[in-house]
Amino acid sequence: MGAGRYAPSPSGELHLGNLRTALLAWLFARSTGRGFLLRVEDLDRARAGAEAIQLADLRAIGLDWDGPVVRQTERTDGYLAAIAALGEAGLLYECFCTRRDIAEASSAPHAAPGAYPGTCRNLTEAERAARRAVRPAALRLRTDLDRFTVTDVLHGDYTGVVDDFVVVRNDGVHAYNLVVVVDDALQGIDQVVRGDDLLPSTPRQAHLATLLAQLDAVPAAASGTVPPQYAHVPLVLNADGKRLAKRDGSVTLAQLRQDGITAERVRAVLLESAGLPGGPLARALDAFDPAHLPREPWVFTGFPASTGGMH
Ligand code: GLU
Repeated sequence: MGAGRYAPSPSGELHLGNLRTALLAWLFARSTGRGFLLRVEDLDRARAGAEAIQLADLRAIGLDWDGPVVRQTERTDGYLAAIAALGEAGLLYECFCTRRDIAEASSAPHAAPGAYPGTCRNLTEAERAARRAVRPAALRLRTDLDRFTVTDVLHGDYTGVVDDFVVVRNDGVHAYNLVVVVDDALQGIDQVVRGDDLLPSTPRQAHLATLLAQLDAVPAAASGTVPPQYAHVPLVLNADGKRLAKRDGSVTLAQLRQDGITAERVRAVLLESAGLPGGPLARALDAFDPAHLPREPWVFTGFPASTGGMH
């Protein structure tokens, strides 16, 4: 049995967009007989107390998950092992570029859009030593292809840039594109459902997942599918067509509760926004079919006035 997952960053409370993605990830996993795991992505942007509130909110909308919650800050050994394997294979190099260096080099006429221009790829040992004295290095993956195609349940084949991306930042923190791949592999995750803002990073991640499996740096996912199955779901937008954010008013369960809207009602509205019946989760699970999911973002403009009740 493989597994799906939800991987929130504990930077604050979940809003309706996050909750909707979590619900869909749960439906994708459970409707295909997979396990469902919860991973707290606390390497970056962690805020004290946020994790407990996020988990309580996920439970409040009826989601359950298998096994203990995993936190990235407790998984350093796996990231170090992957970095060691990539290093031994000669696939890493030090990069001393600032953002500005990259922006300037990328505006050169022949640079591929959005790709690291390769400035530090072939430095000599003497050049590296001189630069190390000035600023700490990031580590980049040496990539010998420039594009990779992933297959996505909702987007079909998606081809995107794969460049020499950063795997360890110059402050020593393991980069998101590395840790997400290592975590998914170590947790036996073979289905990744998340917001479609992450689709452009997916070819990089899928390439790295393939490399790490080839190097035996991480065990192949339980079902043997590397890279995992992907489903990038549309985001929730506000009335201005921008990605929903906390400043858009009542968009968290706590705020909505104050407005008299229960977690059950929130779940019903989220399910209905995805074309599913709003009652018990088991009914939505029966009705769930990725082929019928809306492909467009859901525009949230506030809760419809409550029906029933007072006359
Ligand atoms: N932690 C990321 C977020 O909350 C999700 C990453 C993922 O699902 O791969 O946006």
